[in-house]
Amino acid sequence: MKIKLNPKSQIVVLTGAGVSAESGLKTFRDNNGLWENHRVEDVATPEAFRQFPELVWKFYKDRYFQLAQVKPNPAHVALVELENFLGDNFNLITQNVDGLHFKAGNKNVIEMHGSLYECFCSDCNNRFLMKDIDLDLEIPVCSKCRGYLRPDIVWFGEIPYHLNRIQQIMSKLDLFLVIGTSGIVYPAAQLLPIAKSCGAHTVGINLEEPANLLYLDDFYKGLSGEILPDLVKQWIGKV
Ligand SMILES: [Zn+2]
Repeated sequence: MKIKLNPKSQIVVLTGAGVSAESGLKTFRDNNGLWENHRVEDVATPEAFRQFPELVWKFYKDRYFQLAQVKPNPAHVALVELENFLGDNFNLITQNVDGLHFKAGNKNVIEMHGSLYECFCSDCNNRFLMKDIDLDLEIPVCSKCRGYLRPDIVWFGEIPYHLNRIQQIMSKLDLFLVIGTSGIVYPAAQLLPIAKSCGAHTVGINLEEPANLLYLDDFYKGLSGEILPDLVKQWIGKV
């Protein structure tokens, strides 16, 4: 279907690991559920942090340091163009924790799975920026209470952030765009059927057909960095 947006169109975008992968960041799904040779349950659960805090911290420090080497790709840039056109009618929900949408210049970004740039105290909940803590320590500690800090990542078995806000923005939308997700991680995977039931037009871009394909009005198979820039230009009438 031919889509034309105007600045009053309400759009929600959901991005997943595929968008970051195009910037060179690996994910759990790259290699049989392994992420840089670690199993999910060894590095991305509260139980893992209780048992092996050094290993979990080493894993996330590596991920954090890697961010200095990666740049937003053309898909990120296209989403900035879309936000510039729509202003506050643009909302971006991301499952990614790498901050690349902010780095690209997007403002209305909801990081539902947390951020690699932050951590918090597992005892007193005080929050810190990663750049402000001593990452030379095997397990960084809280400057207020000396408790263990933990990365501000929503681990498996934990509740994603900002669910109320997400529910709010999902209540009125004209277009729902989902990029680079397999459609199997809940609750993010539920957003597409919700958008559909609200009457929104739904568009997906992914390397493979997502599990919830049947809820998509339009599906584009391929790299979002190659597909999205042209789509956005069409949508906002630049071509
Ligand atoms: Zn503390």
